[in-house]
Amino acid sequence: MSGNQTRLQAIDQITNRAPLSFEKTEPLNKIWATDLFNLDKMEEALSKSAYKAIKKTVQTGKALDSATADIVAAAMKDWALSKGAKFFSHVFYPMTNITAEKHDAFILTNSEGNAINEFTGSLLIKGEPDGSSFPNGSLRMTNAARGYTAWDPTSPAYIQQTSNGATLMIPSVFMSWTGEALDKKIPLLRSNSAMNEAAQKVLKLMGETDIADLNSSCGPEQEYFLVDENFANSRPDLLLAGRTLFGAAPAKGQQFDDHYFGAIPARVQVFMQDFEDKLYKLGIPAKTHHNEVAPGQFELAPYYGAANVGADQQQLLMTTMKDTAKEHGFLCLLHEKPFAGVNGSGKHVNWSVGNSTQGNLLDPGKTPHSNLEFLLFCGAVIRGVHKYGPLLRAVIATASNDHRLGANEAPPAIMSVYLGDQLEKVFEDIKAGKLTGSTTGGEMDLGLDQILNFDRDPGDRNRTSPFAFTGNRFEFRAVGSSQSVSGPLVAMNTMLADSLNWIAEKLEAALTTQDQTAAVISVLKELMEEHGNAVFGGDGYSSEWHTAAVEERGLLNIPTTADALPHLMSENTVGLFERTGVLSAVELESRYEVYAEQYNLTIELEAKLVSDIARTKIYPAALSYLSELTHASSSVLDLGIELDNSITKAVAENTNSLLATITKLDEELTKEDFANTEAHLRFSADVIRPLMDEARVYADALELLVADELWPLPKYQEMLFIK
Ligand code: ADP
Ligand code: MG
Repeated sequence: MSGNQTRLQAIDQITNRAPLSFEKTEPLNKIWATDLFNLDKMEEALSKSAYKAIKKTVQTGKALDSATADIVAAAMKDWALSKGAKFFSHVFYPMTNITAEKHDAFILTNSEGNAINEFTGSLLIKGEPDGSSFPNGSLRMTNAARGYTAWDPTSPAYIQQTSNGATLMIPSVFMSWTGEALDKKIPLLRSNSAMNEAAQKVLKLMGETDIADLNSSCGPEQEYFLVDENFANSRPDLLLAGRTLFGAAPAKGQQFDDHYFGAIPARVQVFMQDFEDKLYKLGIPAKTHHNEVAPGQFELAPYYGAANVGADQQQLLMTTMKDTAKEHGFLCLLHEKPFAGVNGSGKHVNWSVGNSTQGNLLDPGKTPHSNLEFLLFCGAVIRGVHKYGPLLRAVIATASNDHRLGANEAPPAIMSVYLGDQLEKVFEDIKAGKLTGSTTGGEMDLGLDQILNFDRDPGDRNRTSPFAFTGNRFEFRAVGSSQSVSGPLVAMNTMLADSLNWIAEKLEAALTTQDQTAAVISVLKELMEEHGNAVFGGDGYSSEWHTAAVEERGLLNIPTTADALPHLMSENTVGLFERTGVLSAVELESRYEVYAEQYNLTIELEAKLVSDIARTKIYPAALSYLSELTHASSSVLDLGIELDNSITKAVAENTNSLLATITKLDEELTKEDFANTEAHLRFSADVIRPLMDEARVYADALELLVADELWPLPKYQEMLFIK
């Protein structure tokens, strides 16, 4: 079957699809967390003392003794077997954005040759996958390729149901023989404790005596596209790269704004219901879902929870989303920009820090005292965004997110922080010295009142900011839809830890000569003088901001991953991670190497696909059409009429240019030797990407010229509008 026939058949199949019916599902209380081995299940299964021990571990991350581990393992095994599981697996989160697992059977044979179910505390706690095939940025020499996984008891085990059977999944960390982090979970746990330690210091200085451990929270909003599999199957670019490498903009796009919050198509509703039921069984609190701005685009946001668990759940959510979509005949696209010229997908990471005694420290609170604490934590974030802006940009740097950041509908590649009018004014006043913190008489009282009785309403939302305060949390809006949330969470927790340490030092000194309020205001004044340039409430899309941010405020505009990743190795970043104990210089370097390699590999794969598709699908279609045109024109000439040949000329010219470009691309792709990682990054960004973009210009022009029935690739309007 030729390419264009596949495309036409796909349209036919989809338009003649049988009508759908909703299945009635079980009520939430019947399915909630049924596949999750959470504290409730442990309480049922364990003795009082074992439960007490494990509960302490779960809530504080304190180490588990081996006797309790054995008891928990036995209970976990019995529960898993009762759910039909025959296998268990440590699931871990390597430095790629994926999830990895190695399955082992519960089975063991005894001396009589009988099979018994075996699962001990040590098997629960530690696994030993052959880690050598995971990218490690040369952290492990091949002669020491062993990697360890270790159970993270703060993240509950769960049952993964597939058509292949059920498996007990045990969330784990992944480290090298020598104890270096090879994954995304270890730094997240470390960043949490660094933040906790620093926050404790500040709260103590603020006179708090009862301070529970602080934890960070994460509420990720996931945007995604659904495309019918019939279309996807005739688009190798969608299947292999997750985005369209070619495709002219549809006549009807999102400019009509009729999709956002519109009625969800019936077929998608059926998918969502099925998908959300699966999430509920896993204890993932899916909360809101709706259409997104672009046609074919949707969003799902679970209710927020502890960052560490939230990050694991987010990985599980992405996998479950893709798998369920497949069962419903869709390809689920988590790519940040599957369709050029159409809105891209992000993953807004909502983040806050708090504990059970002081509550959410990013919530303005009800008393003047809690508002002072809030201002300190908020100030700490402002300092973090300013001092470590390039790091924030680096942790969201991927080949795919580059297509989105800085575009007209997505956050700019310049890191700034939005506070809302009221809060921005408070900080501006502190900076300008209008608020001195003096509580005794004088003209400043009025101003002080303004901060101490700060109102909770953040005012308007700003959709153009990469990092926005939204009333009781910050929303990191620039994170990409396909990314793990761990990197961004690590960066936020760590920069906060560093700022809180700085604040603690300054505050301690200030308190020797000033009362508490005055001391806080003076520390914040100094902070704002140094770092206030990161605060921006205007239009982040505007060209004025792009100029002002760089020229007047000294902020960096970091357009591509090639520009961003080297910031992971800057003195500033290395110092931050070493001081806080979150990542050693060696661990950081290995991350840089892994992320750089992923970027280069992605661009290389896409470039090869561009060349392939152009040569084997688009070129033949263009030639067929040219032959039809020239044939027609000579037949017409036989009648003595000269046919207008402008289309023929345009097709021929674009075909030639396309061919010339991919020839050049093929040639560049043979290049192998690069002086260093950065040179390779630059090559991908400055040589390969532009050639791919150029090839696309000619191919997309051809799409608008070549007869519709000959065109081999499903078109944007088909993929986006036919459901
Ligand atoms: P919007 O689209 O208006 O930004 P959503 O309701 O789609 O809001 O998503 C908001 C996300 O923020 C949800 O996941 C929500 O649970 C989460 N969230 C709310 N409060 C907090 C908080 N204090 N810390 C972290 N996340 C939070
Ligand atoms: Mg949001």
